Amino acid sequence: MSALDFRARLGALARDDLTRTRLTLDAPCGPEAVVDGQHLIAFAGNDYLGLANHPEVVEALREGASRWGAGAGASHLVSGHQRPHEELEQALAAFTGLARALFFSTGYMANLALLPALAGRGDTLIADRLNHASLVDAALLSRATVRRYPHGDIAAVARMLASAVGRKVVVTDGVFSMDGDIAPLSDLLALCEQHDALLVVDDAHGFGVLGERGRGVLSHSGLASPRIIYIGTLGKAAGVAGAFVAGHADLIEWLMQTGRSYRYTTAAPPALACALLVSLGLIEAGDGRRATLAAHRERLKQGLTDLRWPLMPSHTAIQPLQVGTNADVLALGAQLRARGVWAPAIRPPTVPAGTARLRISLSAAHTGEHLDALCRALIEAGHD
Ligand SMILES: *Cc1c(COP(=O)(O)O)cnc(C)c1O
Repeated sequence: MSALDFRARLGALARDDLTRTRLTLDAPCGPEAVVDGQHLIAFAGNDYLGLANHPEVVEALREGASRWGAGAGASHLVSGHQRPHEELEQALAAFTGLARALFFSTGYMANLALLPALAGRGDTLIADRLNHASLVDAALLSRATVRRYPHGDIAAVARMLASAVGRKVVVTDGVFSMDGDIAPLSDLLALCEQHDALLVVDDAHGFGVLGERGRGVLSHSGLASPRIIYIGTLGKAAGVAGAFVAGHADLIEWLMQTGRSYRYTTAAPPALACALLVSLGLIEAGDGRRATLAAHRERLKQGLTDLRWPLMPSHTAIQPLQVGTNADVLALGAQLRARGVWAPAIRPPTVPAGTARLRISLSAAHTGEHLDALCRALIEAGHD
């Protein structure tokens, strides 16, 4: 072994079909991508409502930059907290119906601040095995004891809570990012009440998509409790960038005071907050977009009834096809690309070994014709 053996390490990745390649896009985020001159119908992003390139959002970003400049210049607690950031936090709290919201520059950063603010040495974090990588990393950073339960296994959560020491926090994705299923939140909340635990819900894929007017998975599940800490991300359905943590006002104040990835980083450009305020209005008025998304989901299910690979059960915009091996999912991805359709092959460690999948994600910006082209390409690939 040498310090510079990266060639060998990369070779090992390649042998396991785990090398990632980036595609360079020559068009804005949208349902039709241009890659190396090839036009592709893209089912690859998380822009579920089609807001990433919405003219009103883009214009708000432009105007925000004219009014507020390019950068915030410092962290929020020093001198970087500007009026648009403040207005956005108030709008996010009002929209979600939670007492207070704190804005972060990314969801990854929000999670890295949150879990160590809630639990430390001697405490216990109880986490779903399929949680997003940012929650896994945040849990490690907290230095709390981390117990991971089999996906959605309420009985396991109950056992872990019963034997947990210190402060107890249950942590779950709201909508699982690579599966599309929804966490059993009311059962988790009941257990948290029984055991005086907090419940952290990362709703990166439910915010804007689920619930009344897109308020997210808590609204979808009819849940409200001061024990719930809600994370919404703003680079997916909201179409811009950033994230927020919302909940009990004292808890959010504690997070602001102590969250290290909140304090020790420069605030996001205020123009992003200007764009997000407009995006939030479009989400709230977006029942039509959410209805289109639901219709696309139905069209996909109907179109793929006899396909060789099963669609995983999902009531959200994330519609993965379970394929199996890394090599097979890469081959399927390539067959689709040859037919002008792009859906990403998702492999370990993003998903457990042996469960490689094609992650189809739908957007209100897709048309029925886009969906039909996807179904046709998949059926043809299934016959190859
Ligand atoms: C995408 C995602 C994040 C990270 O959010 P970013 O704003 O992209 O950093 C966090 N949690 C979940 C569940 C996600 O899917």
